[in-house]
Amino acid sequence: MSGFELHSEIREEVAKLCAKFPGEYWRTLDAVRGYPTEFVHALTEAGYLAVLVPEEYGGSGLGLSAAAAILETIHEQGCNGAACHAQMYTMGTVLRHGSDAQKQHYLPKIATGELRLQAFGVTEPTSGTDTTALRTTARREGDEYVVNGQKVWTSRAEHSDLMLLLARTTPRDQVAKKTDGLSTFLIDMQAAKGHGLTLRPIRSMMNHNSCEVFFDDMRIPADTLVGTEGKGFRYILDGMNAERLLIAAECIGDAKWFIQKATEYAKARVVFGRPIGQNQGIQFPIANAYAKMRAAELMVQDGLARFERGEPCGEQANMAKMLASEASWAAAEMCVQTHGGFGFAEEYDVERKFRETRLYQVAPISTNLILSYLAEHVLGLPRSY
Ligand SMILES: Cc1cc2nc3c(=O)[nH]c(=O)nc-3n(C[C@H](O)[C@H](O)[C@H](O)COP(=O)(O)OP(=O)(O)OC[C@H]3O[C@@H](n4cnc5c(N)ncnc54)[C@H](O)[C@@H]3O)c2cc1C
Repeated sequence: MSGFELHSEIREEVAKLCAKFPGEYWRTLDAVRGYPTEFVHALTEAGYLAVLVPEEYGGSGLGLSAAAAILETIHEQGCNGAACHAQMYTMGTVLRHGSDAQKQHYLPKIATGELRLQAFGVTEPTSGTDTTALRTTARREGDEYVVNGQKVWTSRAEHSDLMLLLARTTPRDQVAKKTDGLSTFLIDMQAAKGHGLTLRPIRSMMNHNSCEVFFDDMRIPADTLVGTEGKGFRYILDGMNAERLLIAAECIGDAKWFIQKATEYAKARVVFGRPIGQNQGIQFPIANAYAKMRAAELMVQDGLARFERGEPCGEQANMAKMLASEASWAAAEMCVQTHGGFGFAEEYDVERKFRETRLYQVAPISTNLILSYLAEHVLGLPRSY
C-alpha cells in the first residue's frame, strides 16, 4: 500500500512486551473486573502511549500508523488496549484546539504518564447517538462554570486524572444549528471527585472499566474550556477519524489472534483419527475469516495513509472501522466453532476475546450510524434522521 508504513520494529518490540502479560494475567483480571495497572505501566514506561504527542511536548511525534501498529500488535498478542488506548489520542483535542497554556501545562505530563487523560465524556443515557441532544449543561458564573447532568459508559473514568467533557453551554433552542452551543472542557477529575463529581462503575459483558458519571453543581474554573465556547462539537468530530482508525487496527489484531489460535488448534486436535483442520468444513471458515481480515486491513491501511498525508479520510476511517469490527467478529465466531466445547472454557481465552471484540460493532460508533454516514455523505442519499 503506497504511503503506508508497517512499523515492523515497533511491532516486534510491542510483541515482546506483551509476552510478559499472557492469557492468565488477563483472565485473572477479567474475573474480578480489575484494571491492568502493570500492563498500562509497562506501555507508559516504554513510551508507547506517547507516540502521538509531538516531540516539543515530550512525546515521540510519530504518525497515526505507529499508534495503529502498537494497538494492533497488543490485540494480536491476546492483550487488550482498551484500558489505555484513549491516553494516546484524547490529547489530540487539546493539541489541536487548546490554548498555549493548556498545551504547555498538560501535554508534557500526559506524555510521561504523570497525568492520564483517558476519560471521554460524551454519551448520555437519554440522548444516545444523537449527541447534540445531550442534556449535561455548563453554566458560566463569573470565572467558573457550573456543570450539571450525567454521562454513561465513560470508560476508564476511575483510572484517569482528566476528563474531556462535552456539555451544552447554550440551550439547543437558542442556537441556529443544533451542533452549536456545545463546549469541551478539560476537567481535573481528582479535584472534582467529592465536589460535585460522582462515579459509579458499570459491570458489563467484558472487563472494560466503564462508569456512569454524575455532575451535581460541579464548579470548574473557566480556563478549563478548550477552544471557543460553543464550538466543542466540531472539536470532538475532529478527533473521530483517528479514533475509528485506531479501533479498527485493534479489531484487525483481534482477528489475527482468532485466526492464529483457530489454525493452531485445527492442526493439533485429532478427531476421527485425523486433525479437524483436514476437514474442509473446518478449513473454509478459517480461510474465509482470513480473507475478510485481509480486506479490512487494506481499508485500515488506506485510511491511515490518507490521514497521515492530511487528506480527507472520513469515508475510509468509517469503512475501516465497520469492516474491521465485522472481520474480527467473524473470526471470533469461527474460532469458537473451531474449538468446539473448549471454545467456551476460560483457560483457552477464546471466550474472553469473543466477548471483548463484540464491543466494536457498537462502540465508539455503531454500524448503523456508519452506514448512514456512507449513504448520506458518500453516496448522496437523503438524510434519514
Ligand atoms: C463498553 C463501552 C464503552 C464505551 N465507552 C465510551 C466512552 O468512553 N465515552 C463515551 O462518550 N461513550 C462511550 N460508549 C458509548 C458508545 O459510544 C455508545 O454506546 C454508542 O455510540 C451507541 O450509543 P447508544 O448506546 O446510546 O445507542 P443508541 O443511540 O441508543 O442506539 C441503539 C441502536 O439503535 C441504532 N440507531 C440509533 N439511531 C439510529 C438511526 N437513526 N438509524 C439506524 N439505527 C439507529 C444504533 O445503531 C444502535 O444499534 C461506550 C459504550 C460501551 C458499551
